[in-house]
Parts: sequence; C-alpha cells; structure tokens
Amino acid sequence: MSDNKRRTALVTGASRGIGRAIAVRLAKAGYNIVVNYSGNEEAANETVSLCKKENVDSIAVRANVSDFAEVEGMIKTAIDEFGRIDCLVNNAGITKDKLILGIKEEDFDDVIAVNLKGVFNTIKQITPIMLKQKSGNIVNISSIAGLCGNFGQVNYAASKAGVIGITKTIAKELASKNIRCNAVAPGYTKTDMTAKVREDIFEKAIAAIPLKRVGEPEDVANLVNFLASDESSYITGQVINVDGGLLM
Ligand code: NAP
Repeated sequence: MSDNKRRTALVTGASRGIGRAIAVRLAKAGYNIVVNYSGNEEAANETVSLCKKENVDSIAVRANVSDFAEVEGMIKTAIDEFGRIDCLVNNAGITKDKLILGIKEEDFDDVIAVNLKGVFNTIKQITPIMLKQKSGNIVNISSIAGLCGNFGQVNYAASKAGVIGITKTIAKELASKNIRCNAVAPGYTKTDMTAKVREDIFEKAIAAIPLKRVGEPEDVANLVNFLASDESSYITGQVINVDGGLLM
C-alpha cells in the first residue's frame, strides 16, 4: 500500500486521449492516479509511467465501466492501494455513429452502457467512500453533442445529455456533504476518437470553430484540473464547454 496521505484521483478511460491528458495533469497537481482502461494495457502502463514522472504514485486497473461488478473490483483495488479516492473523473467513452435509419439497436445500447451507465456505476459506488471522507470531487466528461445534438450520434448525444442530468442531480444531492460534481463538454478534440471522423467532415467542422483550431486533450485536462481543485470551491452542477467557441 502506498502513502495514503496524498490525494488520489481515479480517471476512467485514461489509457489514451483526453483521459491520459487528465491523468497527467492531475499527477502534476500532486494526486496519486488510478488509470482505468478497458483493453489497452500497454497504453495504460504508458500513462502510469507519465504520471510517475511527476513524482506521484500510479497504478493501471482494467475494468469495463459498463459492468457494475468490474467497477466494484476497480474501486476495491484503488482503495487497497491508496486508501482513499478524492477525485473521480468519468472520462471513458465510445462512439458508434450512424444516422437514425442505419443505426442498430445494439449500437444504441452499447454507447449508453459505457457513456451513461458507466458514469452511474462509478458514482454509485464511490459516493459512500467520499461521504466517509467528508469530501470529494466528481468531474464528468460530457460533450457539446449532448447539448446541441449531432448528425449520426443519436446514441452518443443521448448518453452525453444523460451525463449532464446525472451531474446536476449528484451536485444537488451531495452539495451539503462537501462533494462537488461538474461536467465538461468538449468540442472536437484531437484523439483516436476523432481520427475516425472522415477528413472532409473534420475539415468542415474546424472551419466552423471561432478559434479556428481543433482542441488538444490538454485543453480539456486544464479545466478538469481547475474543477478538481479548491480554486473552484464555489462551483458545482455546472457544464462548461471547451470547444473553441463552437457552441456560442
Ligand atoms: P479515445 O481516444 O477513444 O479514448 C477512449 C478511452 O476510453 C480509452 O482510454 C479507452 O480504453 C477507454 N474506454 C473505452 N471504453 C471503455 C470501457 N467500457 N471501460 C473503460 N474504459 C473504456 O477517446 P477520447 O477522444 O479521449 O474521449 C474521452 C472522453 O471525451 C469520452 O467520454 C468522449 O466521449 C469525450 N469527448 C471527446 C471528444 C473528442 O473530440 N475527442 C469530444 C467531446 C467529448 P482502452 O484504451 O483500453 O480502449
């Protein structure tokens, strides 16, 4: 078991992309980091190494966030190792894009299971720990698609709108217990997820962004770090866009 006086953050889907950037940013801020992933062990171990370079402790834990029992196992491992969870970042997410006529029932169910039920699974099981600690901080990664919808993303937009509903509910239920909960809604961000988008569609999307560039994972990570810190101690239940001005 590691030095459990240090604050600990658990970041889901931290093997790659935005989750990795969040893990490294929180490590820089001094948190021990639990790096969750679903299958890519090598990438998760790389994130662990990057976090350790910031002189904190870090472990990788495989768990499918859509599976309640696997999440329970992940949380047990985190507590056995670090003794506490101060910050939970629900970042794990997938896309299975198709227009409404082409989308299959399982494409809807799979995306809801990871992006929405996954957020429920972690919050449901980490809340008792935060209540016992008498403090905690939850940041959920939504998407601007959850605020404005998007072609081909009926499943994804529904899941991300649902994450906002969870965020506001948890913020209301737990504010009096010194637990804050906020959501971040990124726009187009440079990761494996957006690498799947057709190039001409992506170029068109960037042209519509007032700041004229795609977001970097670190743009999202910086806001998550702020929301996780005491500098945002009077902010809860909010959804903050990191989208280069796209949605204004
Ligand atoms: P990404 O590069 O595709 O990475 C996804 C991460 O989630 C990986 O670490 C992956 O783990 C993990 N993951 C996937 N399914 C999982 C599951 N069932 N259980 C646990 N972990 C799982 O995605 P990203 O672009 O960084 O996106 C991160 C978050 O930001 C997502 O919630 C996404 O919806 C949101 N977002 C992204 C954008 C964007 O433009 N990129 C915009 C708005 C919102 P493995 O490596 O093990 O597969």
